[in-house]
Amino acid sequence: MAGFDVKRGGARALAVALLGWTLAAAMAAAAKEATPEPAAASAPEDSPSVLRQRLAERLAQKGDSAPVKVATHGGKPEHAGRDTGKKSEAKKADAKEAAAAHRDLHWSYEGVTGPEHWAELNPEFRQCASGQRQSPIDVRDTIKVDLEPIQIDYHPTAFSVVDNGHTVQVNLKPGNAIQVMGRRYELLEFHFHRPSEERINGRQFDMEAHLVHKDAEGHLAVIAVELERGHDQPVVQTVWNNLPLEKNEELAAQVLLDPALLLPQDKSYFTYMGSLTTPPCSEGVLWMVMRQPVEASAQELAIFGKLYPMNARPLQDLSARLIKESN
Ligand SMILES: [Zn+2]
Repeated sequence: MAGFDVKRGGARALAVALLGWTLAAAMAAAAKEATPEPAAASAPEDSPSVLRQRLAERLAQKGDSAPVKVATHGGKPEHAGRDTGKKSEAKKADAKEAAAAHRDLHWSYEGVTGPEHWAELNPEFRQCASGQRQSPIDVRDTIKVDLEPIQIDYHPTAFSVVDNGHTVQVNLKPGNAIQVMGRRYELLEFHFHRPSEERINGRQFDMEAHLVHKDAEGHLAVIAVELERGHDQPVVQTVWNNLPLEKNEELAAQVLLDPALLLPQDKSYFTYMGSLTTPPCSEGVLWMVMRQPVEASAQELAIFGKLYPMNARPLQDLSARLIKESN
């Protein structure tokens, strides 16, 4: 999932850029309060950041003329090479330093800010590396039981769309809820991944929608819907129709959208306990993965592919977690 967290991450990134570290710390504390946050272990000694530090030191010893910069655990840039004192190189170094500083705030799906490095970008993201109950997973070896049906109470609703730099997210006005395992969760938003993050018996789908819910005590529950190529998907098309032209500009739609139409007819599902699939990778998230995929047209799938060719976190270890499946 990306939306709930992504939105906050984006807003925080902007605030940090403008106001600096003090405010960042305050916002991080607030964010921590808003999410169920189990304690996380410190990073292992052979974590990628330590390995990169060692590599940088080795390169510096070899006498490379360009200063080498690496991100430490805290993400602060640090000189690890010699400074030649030349003006142009100093300029280059400044640019590099600025880029390194930005790395704290911008996570992505590839390269030095990709999933393998999320935990190094910000102390708040440490669970992305140290967590033991992370998402997504390959859903297999399930136990089949009489799972209670999810009580779904969705209605045509006013909405807005934002391209937040990590996905396309649909924010919904209140009034949609699900009830499951004795809790009532309000639907906050839904968003998309390509290709699917969860897999079912090893199968990855063209896309996946995450419908993100929260209960009164702040517990998160996500319904994942797999999308595969086929007929038009009315909700997906409505979202694309209302896509803003600019990133990070939320556009209020002039029509209503019924999130129920995004769900498959067969409401059988798999369920397990996992995490946000985007930083800060907080755990304690109840996942419900719909067993039946929903169709979307080739054109609808292609439109998202133009914006986000790949925004799926790699599979995480199941670590002896139980996965239940509807009979
Ligand atoms: Zn997601």
